[in-house]
Parts: sequence; structure tokens; C-alpha cells
Amino acid sequence: MPATTPDAPTPRPHPAAAPLLLAGVLLAAAALGHDGRRVAQLAALALPLVLWVAWPLRSQLLHRVRGLLVGVLALGFVLDGSLRHYLWERYQAAPDSSMVLGALANAHADESWQYLLSHWPYVLMRLAPALLGALAVAWAVRHAARRPLGALAWRPPRRAAMATVALLLLVSGVAHASKPWRRLHPALFWPQWVESAQQLRAGWAAQLQAREHTLAQARALAPEPAFDGPATVMLVVGESINRDNLGLYGYPRDTTPRLDAERRRLGDALLVLDPAWSVEASTLPSLQRLFRFGASEGGDAPHLLALARAAGYKVWWIGNQDDIALRALHAGLADAHEIVNRRPGRSGTTLDGELLDEVHTALADPAPRKLLVVHLIGAHPHYGLRRPAGAHPFEADGDAVDQALARAGRSAWTREARQDYDAALRYHDGVLADLLQALREGDAPGERSAWMYLSDHGQEVGHELDRAGHSATTEAGYRIPALIWRDEAMADAALAARPFRADWAAWTVAGLLGVRWPGHDASRDVLSPDYRWQPPRLPIAPASPAR
Ligand SMILES: [Zn+2]
Repeated sequence: MPATTPDAPTPRPHPAAAPLLLAGVLLAAAALGHDGRRVAQLAALALPLVLWVAWPLRSQLLHRVRGLLVGVLALGFVLDGSLRHYLWERYQAAPDSSMVLGALANAHADESWQYLLSHWPYVLMRLAPALLGALAVAWAVRHAARRPLGALAWRPPRRAAMATVALLLLVSGVAHASKPWRRLHPALFWPQWVESAQQLRAGWAAQLQAREHTLAQARALAPEPAFDGPATVMLVVGESINRDNLGLYGYPRDTTPRLDAERRRLGDALLVLDPAWSVEASTLPSLQRLFRFGASEGGDAPHLLALARAAGYKVWWIGNQDDIALRALHAGLADAHEIVNRRPGRSGTTLDGELLDEVHTALADPAPRKLLVVHLIGAHPHYGLRRPAGAHPFEADGDAVDQALARAGRSAWTREARQDYDAALRYHDGVLADLLQALREGDAPGERSAWMYLSDHGQEVGHELDRAGHSATTEAGYRIPALIWRDEAMADAALAARPFRADWAAWTVAGLLGVRWPGHDASRDVLSPDYRWQPPRLPIAPASPAR
């Protein structure tokens, strides 16, 4: 065996090794901490680091500066992936979920220290990939390209190589230009995360005060029950549902087979209000008006949940939308609130059906008077997330709906969005029917039960414009469904033809709860003989709806 000669050159790593290793580490970190399209978004954001490491730099100084910058940023990606993975594994929660942000805002330094002391083996085990990743990053920046990649055995034609680099840079440029993508960049996300927690902490004291004020205000109104005995009311709030797309409202696609069956079974007891309108085109303003008896933000109108509690109801908020504002303004007023989805905003993937266990638990509660608010994620974009994977009931092109869209000049993209939207509605239909069934099964003799469903606002999916999403400027953004079931049959057929406004919904719910107070206005309760319709003024051109 020949001994190594002392003057043999130290073996240099292959010039492609550093960028490839870095790319692998960054991709692994992205896949560890994110899923679906977000992995691709993170990869696009991390791309410049890899390209820079592959770019030959002869200057020792520039090489060092690059090493420092790329090292720090890449480490950010590694820690981002590991932390997110840890939080997901342990709490099924994203870092910016209100649960995690809340825990962070609520934690004191000594608590955090105690947490680490009591969990360190687990934390260390979970962070081991981060340590490995950090070592790999350190190696990669140390061995970043110093000379052209001439040592590559296969050399791509120069023009093709430049075109590839240009394309990659373009993709990455788009990723950095897009705000929702850029927000995911660890260097932006985590400082923002800390700031959010600080703001949350600062806002809590004020919120708590506001909540106490709302509850005290409701008690001062001394709401009285209009009837004796046990009662259960379930208010289901959908999300982004346009009634025009429901079979129940005459849509040609079979999007509501379960509710259609319920309607055949229940007859006039299941009321389909038509037309029904929201007066806002997005969630928070719409829920503000819904729960504050039509009042927009800033006023001091009573809150439906506070009134219900003051009248002796036990109130639940069971939600599938994790949102700090929703929690502060509405859910927190309930006696019990459970948010199934632990990803913030409307990007969570938890299906609405996963609420059902919580609903059954609440229905089984011995409290004689119960109000359950079930807040769904409905058909909020992205529509593809709002149904179980593989459920594509309307994929076949060329049905009557698709043909009508094509005739109206809608793009293939919009027509596909419509298919996805309708598929989400078909799933939504099953959730609604399950919720109604759960309530009806629990309906004991002598107990009053009522179920009401409406959407917070509509959705534009090629109805009037060639686009899909929330729409403040077209009627589709306000055309919502509204359904009511009560255990006494509502034989009054004229009732079904009544028009309905979501900003008046609290009056109807108060009527179902049998709650009376000095400010009660039966002319806005769609079930009351005193109902007086006034068409809403929608912020759309040219005019508000006819009815
Ligand atoms: Zn909404």
C-alpha cells in the first residue's frame, strides 16, 4: 500500500458540492416546516442563496462577506423549518396561530426557562436536524465557489446555463415581489412574529376591558326570557358561500344533495330564505354587523352573545377560523370557545367536518339553555383546501354550468376555479346536514330547538367578472344563503319568500332564543309577524338589489 506523499494537494471538494448541499439543506428545511405550495414558495425565496454560493468569487474579502450573509440567512431557513416542525409535531399549531402567539405573549421569562428545563430532551431531539443543518450550511459557505465551475465533467452550453440562471432569478424575483410569499421569508417572518406577540400582549388589557364592558352592558339591559323550559339554538356561520351556487337555490350542479334531502324530509320546517344578502363583502365587518345587531365598528351596540349569556344561556363558540380579532371581538364573549383550526388566517387546511366532535360535546352539556355558534371556513379561498383530497364531483368539463361560463367568455382558469368552488360547496353541504342532524337528534321532548345558517358574505367565481375571490364591487360578493329550522313546523309558506339581510340576523337569533330587552326590534326578525323589509344599500354600482 503506497503511503500518501507529503506534497499531495489537499483534495478539493467538487465545485458543485457546496451549492448542491446548500440547496438540499434549504429544501429539507422548507419541507420540514411547511407543506404543499409553501415548500415551493420557500424554495423560491431561498434560491438566491444557492445561486450566490455557486457564483465564483475570487476576492477573499467578498468570499468572507458572502459566507457571513449566506450563512446567517440560510441558518434562518434551517431554524424556521425546525421550529415550525417542532410546533406542528407537538401542538399541531403554526407559529403565528393565535394559540402559539397567545402563549408567547403570555409567557414570562422564567416560564420560558422552566419550559426549556422541563422539556430539554424533547427540544434537543427535535432540534437535532437544525444542528445538522447548521453544520452543513457552515461547510457549504466555506466551500462556496471560488473559481468558475470548469471542473464539472459535463459543461452545459453557456447560453443554456445563463438562461437557466435568469429563469431561476425571475422566479425568485416574483417570490420576493409577492407580499404573501415574501412574508414567509424567515428574515421577515420571525421579527414580525415577535412584534405580533408584543402587540397582542399590549392589546389584551384593552380587550379584556372591552369584553367586560360588553358583558356588563348586556346585564344592564336585563334581557328576559320570552318562554320557560330548556332550549338549544345553533347558529352556523358559513364563509364565502354564494347562494347562486347551491342546488337548494336552483343551481344546476348538484351541490346540495344532503340539504335537498333534509328539505324533502322536513318540508316547510326548513326555511330557505330568498333572496338573502350580506351588506359586507369580507369576514370581520360582516361578523361585526351580524353580532352587533347591524351596527358597524366603533359604536356601542349590544352583542348577541353577551345578551344570550345575560339571559341565562350557556354560549359556545366552535370555530374553524383561527383569527386573533375574531377571538377578541366575538369568540371570547362565549362561555367556552374552541378553535379547531390552529393555523392563522384562512390558510388553514382543517376541514369543517372536524368541528363535529366539539359540537356533539357541547350538545351533550347538561345546561338547560344553550347557544352554539359554529363558525365554519366554508368555501374561503383556496377552494381546493375546502374539501377532502380527491373529491372532484364537477371535474368533467362541458356541463351546462361550464358551457354557460364559456359562452360568457370566462377563462379556463375561472372555469376551473368554479369547479373547485362547487366541489367545496358539495362538502359544505354535508357538514351543514351533519350539524342540523346533530341538533335534531339531541332535541328532547319539551325542549325548543332551532338551527340557523347563513354565510358571512358571498363570492365572485366568474358570476359577473372573469375572476374568483371576495368581491366588494359585484353583487356576487353579497348574495348569501340563509336557512332556518325550528322544531315546531313552520307551515307559513309565505315566510319562505321573505327576503333576508345578514346584518339583521341577530334580531332573528334573539327571537329564536326568546330573549326580550328594551331595545328589541321585531321588525327586523325575519320570523316575526312584524317583519318589515328594507333593501340593504350595497356598496356596488349601479344600484342596490331590487328587493
Ligand atoms: Zn368571510
